[in-house]
Amino acid sequence: MKTEPIALRIDVDTLRGTRDGVPALLKLFDEEKIKASFFFSVGPDNMGRHLWRLLKPTFLLKMLRTKAASLYGWDIIFKGTFWPGPLIGKNFGDIIKKSDASGHETCLHTWDHHYWQSKIDSLSPQMIYDEIERGFTALEKITGKPPVSSAVPGWKCTEQVLLEKEKFSFKYNSDCRANMIFLPQVQGKTLTTPQIPVNLPTYDEVLGKNGITNENYNNHMLSLLKPGVMNVLTIHAEAEGISCLGMFREFVRQAREKGFDFATLGDVLDATQKPLPSASIKLEEIPGREGWVTTA
Ligand SMILES: [Zn+2]
Repeated sequence: MKTEPIALRIDVDTLRGTRDGVPALLKLFDEEKIKASFFFSVGPDNMGRHLWRLLKPTFLLKMLRTKAASLYGWDIIFKGTFWPGPLIGKNFGDIIKKSDASGHETCLHTWDHHYWQSKIDSLSPQMIYDEIERGFTALEKITGKPPVSSAVPGWKCTEQVLLEKEKFSFKYNSDCRANMIFLPQVQGKTLTTPQIPVNLPTYDEVLGKNGITNENYNNHMLSLLKPGVMNVLTIHAEAEGISCLGMFREFVRQAREKGFDFATLGDVLDATQKPLPSASIKLEEIPGREGWVTTA
């Protein structure tokens, strides 16, 4: 029987997701004979840092008012103020290596997830390049080869980000939410690196809305899978790899019963008819997510 592919992307945002979520998913994929695309965060885990800011709003306001950050850079200001977030790749490179050796695609999510999500609006082209380059180099050091592709945190990608990414010769990028694989058009030029957008919602986007609970979540997701079109799903090592692991295992089995199967994003790209259409990206709001995300 011919199966319909679901391109499976795993975002790994934190130390905990890398340490606990990735090994659990690797075991599941091994048992179920699935190959998927892992997008790793390799720099400091600063995801808890915003909690500290909530506790000390006056400090943050003062920083903004004095523009101290733009004068000196956050690194210098926070040195000695915080313990730096632990480096994920340095601490758990062996897990990333194991994932790579198991035949999954090793791809770059980000150097510093929190920094990207909160600062992308104000980063210069050079800062964007440097942030990607740090993650790229760290992953390359761990696996001994360049990461296959990249995906920005929080679907926060601008035309400038696309231009900077073009310098890295990724096989593809996965930075936006849309319903077709395409070549991005920026400033009248068509870029050469395809975009594989995500078109299925994530767990945190749908849970608790429109009557969706853990009890009917899988049925809801199964109802969104469509044969004959692109299906790209993002799961998180922090959710589907830990607290939602049993539920996700059940989803895998039920999706297969419906005639779908799982593949890496790269494999889905290889099987997609060429030439690819071109499109420009847009920044807009989507249900379930705060602020803007990139669409096409
Ligand atoms: Zn992420």
